[in-house]
Amino acid sequence: MSDATKPAQNLPSPELMATLVALCKRRGFIFPASEIYGGIQGFFDYGPLGAELKKNIKDAWWQDMVQRRDDIVGLDSAIIQHPKVWHSSGHVGGFSDPMVDCKVSKLRYRADQLFFGQVIVAGETVGYVSVLEDATMQSEADEKALKIKKKLAKQGELAPVQLKSYMDARPEEYALVPSPATGEPGSLTPPRAFNLMFQTQVGPVSDDASVAYLRPETAQGIFVNFKNVTDSSRVKVPFGIAQIGKAFRNEITPRNFIFRSREFEQMEMEYFIPPDDDIWPKAHQEWIQWCKNWLISIGLREELIGADVHPSDKLAHYSKACTDLTFKYPFGEQELWGIAVRGNFDLTQHQAGSGKSLEYFDEARKEKYTPHVIEPAVGVDRIFLALLVSAYYEDEMDGEKRVVLRLSPRLAPIKVAILPLVKNKPELVAFADKLHAQLQRRYNVFYDAAGAIGRRYRRMDEVGTPFCVTVDFDTIEKDNKVTLRERDSGAQTRLSVEELMKTLEDRILGP
Ligand code: ATP
Repeated sequence: MSDATKPAQNLPSPELMATLVALCKRRGFIFPASEIYGGIQGFFDYGPLGAELKKNIKDAWWQDMVQRRDDIVGLDSAIIQHPKVWHSSGHVGGFSDPMVDCKVSKLRYRADQLFFGQVIVAGETVGYVSVLEDATMQSEADEKALKIKKKLAKQGELAPVQLKSYMDARPEEYALVPSPATGEPGSLTPPRAFNLMFQTQVGPVSDDASVAYLRPETAQGIFVNFKNVTDSSRVKVPFGIAQIGKAFRNEITPRNFIFRSREFEQMEMEYFIPPDDDIWPKAHQEWIQWCKNWLISIGLREELIGADVHPSDKLAHYSKACTDLTFKYPFGEQELWGIAVRGNFDLTQHQAGSGKSLEYFDEARKEKYTPHVIEPAVGVDRIFLALLVSAYYEDEMDGEKRVVLRLSPRLAPIKVAILPLVKNKPELVAFADKLHAQLQRRYNVFYDAAGAIGRRYRRMDEVGTPFCVTVDFDTIEKDNKVTLRERDSGAQTRLSVEELMKTLEDRILGP
């Protein structure tokens, strides 16, 4: 590895987040939604490059999950389903997060993300501090405690704050914990359940019967179509149904950029297996491994991927096991991809709710059963962010500092940039134009004829374009060849157009 290709850092620093948010805005990856009206919290718009990158993530998943496997088929179900779907699935009754209100500021917090602790000076409790969960909350709490000690002019040793979740607060503590908004105690309510589903009305009359919900996950669309799919395609257990689509959750505290938003996109797959107790553990492990390998294959840094195995006493009553693949984001290690073993809970619920049989006849075994499922469920936006974290480097090339996104060619929003050396030589421009048209039929290509060549390279490095092709005087005067410049190494190779097409195809689409 040359100096230029060495990773610039090991673990993502907390500051990286601000850098990435600024890069996304500056280069057209992601904008706050409705920005000219002041924005709307928890919603984001993907700009020209973001739309490409997001589409490439979804295409890669669909190709590998659906098109390149014989045992998985795709589905695209409606966002709004019959409200009974959400009653049967348990979302109307139980899809909630514990919420705390600050009565003074009118701000809301998730109780499980709000932490508090006593300020203890020389063994005596002199107050309380509160912080919102993140990687630096302990130091933040200790700083706040020190301020309280100074303000009260207390002498003696300040103990490190022992933080605990507001979920574990005793009733008498609710009035003592300061609101994160005002810094004063007395305004926080006890935690209460808040349903995360967005409600809407279907049809012209607005009454109780017209209430409908925006789907909070894509999975239920799969379960309610189980019979349609088995009746219409030739799938046989074990098999999967995959779906990509928008999901909506009225998150109490959307935060960390696109990590937790109110409108996001999911890629979910339900893998149906026979009910026998000895089948699911192996299938579960295989799916965990598949998901991890896939994340690495699209360019997530392996050392930033972890796993969180849910302890059995924390599982939902119907769930047999659940492992989350996590990612070390700049704000801490968080869930990226949940791989759950859901038994036959969902199909059974919809069978009871609809009165329609969702049983499956297994021809090989000559028996009828309600299949069980393994569910790998991941958020596109969380992968998007993990890819940026993995790909962002600051290094030096040709004696110049640069920012580079080392996105894999398969995922990069722009695959190739065509850079004619000058724009005032008609034959040279004509050659570049022709090449542009040829490449555009296959890839998302960018044409840039303005400015110094070094600056044009830097602009492409910053948005992750893996290949730049320059057309120069030699091209038209001598050899009909172009120069292919590689983003990561800066290596330059002289190639004929035919050789270029072949090289690009191998590198972008794979051998
Ligand atoms: P969390 O505990 O972080 O709220 P969850 O366990 O509720 O997530 P699931 O219901 O399992 O999440 O959803 C599957 C996947 O959808 C998650 O692993 C995540 O990648 C993505 N996801 C869930 N909620 C959001 C959100 N608000 N914004 C972006 N992605 C999300």
